[in-house]
Amino acid sequence: MYDFDMIVIGSGPSGRRAAVQSAKIGKSVLVVEKGRRVGGVSVHTGTIPSKTLRETVLNLSGWRERGFYGRSYRVKQDIDAGDLMSRLHKTLDHEVDVLEHQFARNGVKTARGEACFLDPHTLQITGEGGEVDTVTAAHVLIAVGTRPFRPDYVPFNGMSVFDSDEIVDLPRLPRSLAVIGAGVIGVEYASIFSALDVSVTLIEPRSTFLDFIDKELIEEFVHELRDRNVALRFGAAVTSITLDARERPVCKLADGRTVHSDMLLFAAGRVGATDRLNLEAAGLAVDHRGRIAVEPKTLQTAVPHIYAAGDVIGFPSLASTSMEQGRVAACHAFGLEPPPPPEFFPYGIYSVPEMSTVGMSEEEVRKREIPYECGIARFRETSRGHIMGLNSGMMKMIFSVKTRRLLGVHIVGEGATELIHIGQAVLNLRGTIDYFIENTFNYPTLAEAYKIAGLDAWNRMTRV
Ligand SMILES: Cc1cc2nc3c(=O)[nH]c(=O)nc-3n(C[C@H](O)[C@H](O)[C@H](O)COP(=O)(O)OP(=O)(O)OC[C@H]3O[C@@H](n4cnc5c(N)ncnc54)[C@H](O)[C@@H]3O)c2cc1C
Repeated sequence: MYDFDMIVIGSGPSGRRAAVQSAKIGKSVLVVEKGRRVGGVSVHTGTIPSKTLRETVLNLSGWRERGFYGRSYRVKQDIDAGDLMSRLHKTLDHEVDVLEHQFARNGVKTARGEACFLDPHTLQITGEGGEVDTVTAAHVLIAVGTRPFRPDYVPFNGMSVFDSDEIVDLPRLPRSLAVIGAGVIGVEYASIFSALDVSVTLIEPRSTFLDFIDKELIEEFVHELRDRNVALRFGAAVTSITLDARERPVCKLADGRTVHSDMLLFAAGRVGATDRLNLEAAGLAVDHRGRIAVEPKTLQTAVPHIYAAGDVIGFPSLASTSMEQGRVAACHAFGLEPPPPPEFFPYGIYSVPEMSTVGMSEEEVRKREIPYECGIARFRETSRGHIMGLNSGMMKMIFSVKTRRLLGVHIVGEGATELIHIGQAVLNLRGTIDYFIENTFNYPTLAEAYKIAGLDAWNRMTRV
């Protein structure tokens, strides 16, 4: 009756996973992607590019060796934009190849063009040259993601003022950079450029940032940023951004301060890429940020055969969680019951230093009035930390005093986004402090910090 069992609009993490899952259970699937190549924001302008840029910066700047050889140590002098771009393009090509191969192997069909609804089961696909095709499906997944919020008062010019999608195509390295927005993206880029010894000013209208992260971790992180001269301008709104005679941005703040910089990255929010989908024809509406509401367990929209997943449905807006949402949507559409999602998922912030967190923060534990105790380990206390020349890095674990159960793990420093998974496993398996006390960890490793932090908490708990 329909051309396809499932049409997926968008080939980012949620679309990709939904398409492959549907194909694996024998359904016919079409993925429509308007970009030149499949992969979505995740592969082309978001997750992978920013993480590749970070890795290149850390390698070429010799960042990881500076604990031993001093702050002026560099693997390559005079790093330029070309150095950063060449690794980026290789990585992206490889990611796209893997994805195209995955689609081909699973018999997922792809169409290049922009999709919009004609009715709840019919989509129109418009190709780059204006050619139009019409396709129908029993089920549709909207996986169109987001695009950067670009308010009119920001003079984006692709030369000195960029949004977070454009920054990955940087024409040259700035001498100084102003970053507006201390969300995850702004913080990541601010700290990556500062690791390149670019003079960075991070501007945030609110007086706090990354509020979902344990405060003690943020304090540690802020200390590190200040230590390398990142200027933090918090608590004052931006009143204007203009360009001077040499096209350099000048940013005026409500507290009377002015920030001059060579370049500016505007990273204050993203909006759902839904405005060209003609959602009314499908019987759907969006909120003020272009996001679509779904039933959280099934990912169904208000129209039951139309699903939405990924960043277009809002929090947590991660590639990792988007993939899972895509899988859940596909399973539900075809009558499979996916297991309920685990209670806790990790959050990784690939700043320099990186941060990662899973479970409850100390603020959350207090709010819930759970009697608790914390254990802290510093990476410099571990032999692996000595070997690596680490002067910083910290792990904090929170335990319930009553049940001894692990409640949260928070890490800032080298390897945080990898190390967190030990804590995640213990947390989701409802483990207690005894796991960390009784088990043997490889030596010398940074994972040993789990034992040190566990013992630290245990010492306090047994004293109570
Ligand atoms: C700078 C940055 C860094 C990030 N870092 C991380 C990280 O470290 N870890 C992490 O987990 N997440 C990270 N994220 C978030 C992550 O990239 C997103 O959560 C993820 O990409 C969302 O996936 P998605 O499935 O919503 O699709 P997206 O990746 O957003 O892709 C949507 C696709 O839909 C296509 N599309 C849109 N409209 C149409 C249409 N009408 N027709 C056809 N195609 C259409 C677009 O072209 C795009 O290719 C980062 C994001 C950014 C911006």
